[in-house]
Amino acid sequence: MPAVHIIGAGLAGSEAAWQAAETGVDVVIHEMRPVRGTAVHQTGGLAELVCSNSFRGDKLDNAVGLLKEEMRRLGSLIMRAADEARVPAGAALAVDRHVFSRRVTEIVSSHPRISLVREEVVRVPAAGGPWSPVVIATGPLTSDALSADIQLLVGDQHLSFYDAISPIVLAESIDLSKAFRASRWNRNVWSASGPGTSTTLPTDAVPVLAVPGESASPEGDYLNCPFTRDQYDTFYDALVAAESATVHDFDTANFFEGCLPIEVMAYRGRDTLRFGPMKPVGLTDPRTGRFPYAVVQLRQDTLAGDHFSLVGFQTQIKWGDQARVLRMIPGLEQAEFVRYGMVHRNTYICGPKVLRPTWQTRGRADLFFAGQVSGVEGYVESAASGLLAGRNAAALARGQDPRTLPRTTAIGALAHYVAHADPAHYQPSNITHGIMEPLQQPPRDKARKKALIAERALADLDAWVGEVAVSGR
Ligand SMILES: Cc1cc2nc3c(=O)[nH]c(=O)nc-3n(C[C@H](O)[C@H](O)[C@H](O)COP(=O)(O)OP(=O)(O)OC[C@H]3O[C@@H](n4cnc5c(N)ncnc54)[C@H](O)[C@@H]3O)c2cc1C
Repeated sequence: MPAVHIIGAGLAGSEAAWQAAETGVDVVIHEMRPVRGTAVHQTGGLAELVCSNSFRGDKLDNAVGLLKEEMRRLGSLIMRAADEARVPAGAALAVDRHVFSRRVTEIVSSHPRISLVREEVVRVPAAGGPWSPVVIATGPLTSDALSADIQLLVGDQHLSFYDAISPIVLAESIDLSKAFRASRWNRNVWSASGPGTSTTLPTDAVPVLAVPGESASPEGDYLNCPFTRDQYDTFYDALVAAESATVHDFDTANFFEGCLPIEVMAYRGRDTLRFGPMKPVGLTDPRTGRFPYAVVQLRQDTLAGDHFSLVGFQTQIKWGDQARVLRMIPGLEQAEFVRYGMVHRNTYICGPKVLRPTWQTRGRADLFFAGQVSGVEGYVESAASGLLAGRNAAALARGQDPRTLPRTTAIGALAHYVAHADPAHYQPSNITHGIMEPLQQPPRDKARKKALIAERALADLDAWVGEVAVSGR
């Protein structure tokens, strides 16, 4: 039986190695630290936490709490080490990062079926060669040489090196008495030279010249938060005064013009945002029959119907300040943020183009991606993807078929998202209730709804574990 090779011993790789080895398969895990470092890691320890020491919520009423419980039921190494290294943090699971990494290192390196090799892997191992099956779990800071080879494998357009993420809010927290639904359907009003080429901004609200018969837009459904001139000025002043995050060296690199943080645009001048992501042209506020002075557009997430992202609002403003400033947007005063905006180095493949829900690549069954490089976001999500990728790589080594979990479970939902989200707007996602299979008849009570989702997930997970046991896997 061939050994499973795993490249990268971070959260995903360590979990994958443990899961594969526990099924009775030999594993070789290749980790480049401390021989070669990254811009962020500081030790040679396995599963080093590069930033926060929090694994986020640990209760079943939130999606990441549910994900953790599923992982515990599947014998997760990362959860075991995290529980052992736990420090007090209210409803969250936070750890002593040194104890945590030391524990993972001890368990992985003392496993009789795991060999830990300290070396940088610079090429994607060849199909059917001695490193088959193989799991690439090299994280957001995948070394340059390997990144270049992954790029050759998946194609230029399917590997990102950089994440410019707009904030995401919960749909039910948007004030629909202020935000209005419309697509930018009559752009030609503003410019004779064609859509999107307008150089004249309104000095204040301007009457709309409707184009008869055009009511729908291929841009899809947007919610639009309209600003008066005073509201815009107040928002602008708060935005330019807000505190930007202190970031690592690589984050200060030149931004692509196409994904400039909003505050960088705002520093260029008071009206820059009104020519950019806050452009009001073509968006008629039904309450006034006019274009507002400025607009923030919210786009429904393609898979998670209860999430809306702020279009073009990638930002590096610190999270506390970010919430305060963004809640000045009319309609978002009570917004609940599912995720804050950020801009950081992040190497990840376009999951929907490259992966199957088993974390195998579409083109090569023996090649898996797991962790942040596979297009998930977060410590727990990275480990969860490693859990399934490790099990599946081991199944392949034994001559069995890889499997995924139902989308009613948090682990299955993550796998489904990575393999099926819209590739055109693909962004790595944390686990949220929004990407899980909706309940058939959801109750109105939010707490009850979350409880039912968790109940169903754990019942389906237990049934899946039972089936796997029966089939001898
Ligand atoms: C700056 C930064 C801060 C973050 N902060 C948080 C946070 O606070 N909370 C959160 O939930 N998530 C955070 N993330 C996102 C993500 O959850 C973490 O990056 C997480 O560590 C991802 O796990 P992973 O296993 O995919 O990658 P990693 O944990 O980074 O593991 C990848 C491993 O692969 C090794 N490696 C890389 N290239 C090679 C190679 N060619 N050959 C051999 N080994 C290689 C690396 O040394 C590393 O040990 C952050 C990401 C970044 C970049």
